[in-house]
Amino acid sequence: MARNTVWHPFTQHALEPPPVKIARGKGAWLETQDNRRIFDGISSWWVITHGHRHPAITAAVHDQIDKLDQVIFAGCTHEPAETLAEKLIDVAPRGLAHVFYSDSGSTAVEVALKMALGYWRNIGQAKTRIAALEHGYHGDTIGTMSAGARGVFNAAYEPLLFDVIHIPFPHPGREQETLDALDAAGRDGSLAAFITEPLILGAGGMLIYSADVLAEMKRVCERHNALFIADEVMTGWGRTGTLFACTQAGISPDILCVAKGLTGGSLPLAATLATPRIFDAHYSQDRSRTFFHSSSFTANPVCCAAALANLATWQTEPVPERVAKLAKIQDEHLASFAADPHFENPRRIGTITALDLKVSDGGYLASANIALRTHFLSHGILLRPLGNTIYVMPPYCSTAADLALVYDAIRSAPAAIKASV
Ligand code: PLP
Repeated sequence: MARNTVWHPFTQHALEPPPVKIARGKGAWLETQDNRRIFDGISSWWVITHGHRHPAITAAVHDQIDKLDQVIFAGCTHEPAETLAEKLIDVAPRGLAHVFYSDSGSTAVEVALKMALGYWRNIGQAKTRIAALEHGYHGDTIGTMSAGARGVFNAAYEPLLFDVIHIPFPHPGREQETLDALDAAGRDGSLAAFITEPLILGAGGMLIYSADVLAEMKRVCERHNALFIADEVMTGWGRTGTLFACTQAGISPDILCVAKGLTGGSLPLAATLATPRIFDAHYSQDRSRTFFHSSSFTANPVCCAAALANLATWQTEPVPERVAKLAKIQDEHLASFAADPHFENPRRIGTITALDLKVSDGGYLASANIALRTHFLSHGILLRPLGNTIYVMPPYCSTAADLALVYDAIRSAPAAIKASV
């Protein structure tokens, strides 16, 4: 039995090839220890937006580490965190006025759930239930797994997960079922909050739904006085074509979670933004109404400086144009798959595309999965299909030539893996 000292995430060490040792990254490309180049077709788990080692972000990191590396964030504050909060509020959907920092997407969502529960408790209302979309993914902590889809990846932890009302995904033509289920969940007055990934469920299989449904779900929550939490951990920072996906539905959530691309993907930082009523419910002479949450590295100054440089990049570089161009190029590639009998459901939103490889055993544990990954790597491309769903989520500096390589490798995958599965 091979023993791995490093235990990798979501990795079956007994089945998967040894991890690729990456030594360097620049733009949309990674370089291995033995000097092979690999195109980062999934933005290193959806975090890298402008490209690896973006010069302005890297410079801001160097500059900040020379001034202040880390400081406790309770009782102390610092310029990068203060300025970043103001700038985040400027670019976020209207109405969000307070920023709570943490370190990852999961913690941003945990904070959101705790804020929602704390809000209702502090204003003396017995609303404690959470609703979430079927197939959703919000992280891998106990709270976020509770809100997410249940499956093979959390079956062992099921006894610890709290009960959440799972609302059916708004499949095209069945949107009313979703709205009716959310409406039913709100009717007894116990619904504290509804959480969703706006416009596309990422880890659940790159499932896209319309802005109209998103807007309607927000209206249902308003009708039942339930908070609306937008988990934009993956969708934020341009992935769906706009800075935030909520904008496309013209909605402002009560609570917004951001992470991943907040620092351009360079360093771990997350933020949970809230409206004044949520902050005000915790603002009290009574210390028991404090928002009781922290982590050691909350608002790390170097991470905040990286995030400020990311926000500046959105202003100084033509990022929306790059995003639009990626969409157009990928549309052309996707069109060529429409008649390919090996694939189904080619789809795109913003910079994200996906298509499903036709297999007899679909789902997260689809047997083709590891062979697909190996095939892509052998073509110098990092893709990590979700089961048999192949998706592309490239950094915004990717070129037409880079993307041509990706889609060529996807096109040749069925024949290649037939030989290996
Ligand atoms: N929420 C969404 C929508 C995500 O896609 C993810 C991660 O992919 C998370 C939360 C968890 O983020 P993290 O992996 O940074 O904890």
